Amino acid sequence: MSEVGIVSWASYLPSFRLDRAMVSKSFSVNSGKGTRTVASYDEDSSTMAVEAARRVDLAGVQTMLFSTTRPPLMDKGNASTMAAVLGLGDAIAAFDLGGSSRSTVGCLKLARSSRELTLLVGSDIRFGRPGSDDEINGSDGAFALTLGPNPRVKIGEVASVSSPTMDRWRSEGDVGTQTWDDRWTAEQQTPLMVSAGEAALHTSGITRENLAAVVVSSPSPKVNAAVLSKFGGKTALGVDQFGYFGAADLGIRIASALSSAGPRQHLLVVSGADGADAFILTTSDNFSPDAGHGDASDAGISVSVIDYLAWRGLVHREPPRRPDPEIPAAPAVSRNDDWKFAFTASRCAKCSSVHLPPQRVCMTCGAIDSMDPVPMRDAKGKVRTYTIDRIAFSPNPPVVVAVIDFDGGGRYRCQLTDVDPQSVQVGMEVEMTYRLISTARNGIRNYFWKARPLKEKTS
Ligand SMILES: [Zn+2]
Repeated sequence: MSEVGIVSWASYLPSFRLDRAMVSKSFSVNSGKGTRTVASYDEDSSTMAVEAARRVDLAGVQTMLFSTTRPPLMDKGNASTMAAVLGLGDAIAAFDLGGSSRSTVGCLKLARSSRELTLLVGSDIRFGRPGSDDEINGSDGAFALTLGPNPRVKIGEVASVSSPTMDRWRSEGDVGTQTWDDRWTAEQQTPLMVSAGEAALHTSGITRENLAAVVVSSPSPKVNAAVLSKFGGKTALGVDQFGYFGAADLGIRIASALSSAGPRQHLLVVSGADGADAFILTTSDNFSPDAGHGDASDAGISVSVIDYLAWRGLVHREPPRRPDPEIPAAPAVSRNDDWKFAFTASRCAKCSSVHLPPQRVCMTCGAIDSMDPVPMRDAKGKVRTYTIDRIAFSPNPPVVVAVIDFDGGGRYRCQLTDVDPQSVQVGMEVEMTYRLISTARNGIRNYFWKARPLKEKTS
């Protein structure tokens, strides 16, 4: 029996960036330099997790685990919806495991002890009150790992230390995370992380001199620097500039580190949350960083402080003077779930015309009930025509609506997102992305597919 470890990896960072200097200016706080990543108004931990998962090889996945501190829905699981969006089939076992950033290590430990190919996705949206530490040093993003036999990266035994230290917390109804004094937290957290790291080295029989990189994950830059220096590492990751990604942090850092790793290397991973956890990653003989995607690009679209606060619900803008969004009816959604979730269209078996949404009668040749399903979520296309609608309901007007002609056939009218309305052009290349359309009065979150300008894959 071969060992279980990481088979593929990817991360997803949203397109928007908040300049910390603008936070300093707005709230008279010292917020440091650089930018943080910001989930758009139509993104949440579920849509970002889907984006990350779409970048890994999902063939043969039997179990899906979702870790977040901000589940879009509670009581109703989010992982089962994501599994439908990703086309993983009804037989998938999909579970939400969240609440704390540490849940991610828990998921990793579970997946490591399973013989099934497991998809682990972690995703988070980090914010606190305006001007708070989590607003400045938090970032939004997601990662996806598949774990199973014949891995590209072996995972060693997980060494853990648990602690009841009250360094950060959020009660139901709280706007954002609250934190205790950073200096006191650093004094508590650092020795726990060092102890877990030393235990991981001891168990694996690997010395500090053998480490190619040290990956440290905790909410405090002060703690991260102290732990890193303790293990003699100067590992700089492309994602360091953005700060802490919560339940997504560990996976985003692992993906980033693997993107610059080589074969037969040892990496020490130390995570600090509710105590500390540490383990060794060992890359295989034929490891290549090209097998995954560690999105560390800092290119992004600038967002204003006011828009950022409005997107997180911390500033209440005048709503559009239009009727509230309709409440999606659960039975209707259920009847069309392949289209609604997985964006599956139909292709005429007689003349190959593609229909979005799927149809029974071919609009080209008139054939009846001779359609085959065709997944369109990874199809690329071009803007055929578009309009900028300033009165349609949107939490972030104006709405850009475009008619997309897909490469390989099919035409569909949908919203464009992650786009400056002034930059839209006929012929612009686009790809599809799963986003929030609206949140109804009863709290149901209505998701569907939108188009966005084609993003070059970064690694
Ligand atoms: Zn036809």
